[in-house]
Amino acid sequence: MMNIILLGPPGAGKGTQAELIIEKYNIPHISTGDIFRAAIKEGTPLGLEAKRYMDSGQLVPDDVVIGIVKERLSKDDCQKGFLLDGFPRTIPQADSLAAYLNSSGRKIASVINIEVDSQILLKRLTGRRVCRNCAAVFHIENKPTKIDGVCDHCGGEVYQRGDDTVETVNNRLQVYRTQTEPLINYYKDKGLLFTVDGQIPMADLFVQVSKIIEGTHQ
Ligand code: AMP
Repeated sequence: MMNIILLGPPGAGKGTQAELIIEKYNIPHISTGDIFRAAIKEGTPLGLEAKRYMDSGQLVPDDVVIGIVKERLSKDDCQKGFLLDGFPRTIPQADSLAAYLNSSGRKIASVINIEVDSQILLKRLTGRRVCRNCAAVFHIENKPTKIDGVCDHCGGEVYQRGDDTVETVNNRLQVYRTQTEPLINYYKDKGLLFTVDGQIPMADLFVQVSKIIEGTHQ
């Protein structure tokens, strides 16, 4: 089973590695952030609730997020593997995930923890641009779109996420440190953690990530 978790602060490059992983290994990409952004775009009740928290950089309550992820993981396409990106973000989320997977005879193969210096995270996040349609990630300096404001992949509109502004980014980094970072030791204790340097070029990082995935694939 190829059940993978991507862990790391906002801006570590989880989304970029995720795009490469799902293409190479053909497993579904489950990004809770993308699920919420899609719900906001559609104006669903979930979207309205999530937006209240996301706009200020706070976490959406555990019970809401856990319910969504369990439902997604119960689908057929997740039975042979999945990539979780941006989930779990708290210890209760991690505990619920473990209990749920256990109840369906599955387990996590690896947790890939991407480390990046805080100053670099700030620069990456505030310069980040995202496709409204396919969620592809760009950066005004490091990875600009070929045509200004237009996605290279699907031609969709490329925009700055409302939570990628300087103030909200600082909140999100603080939330990461207090609520999500404890997951590093949590997964280390379970022998599932693999830490990689998120400051090397993304293609080199992907080589390392691929080795971890292939070495832990059961
Ligand atoms: P992301 O795209 O992963 O950076 O997520 C954007 C925002 O969505 C976060 O700042 C949270 O408000 C919310 N969110 C995404 N995933 C989670 C999660 N696992 N738990 C709580 N909130 C989440």
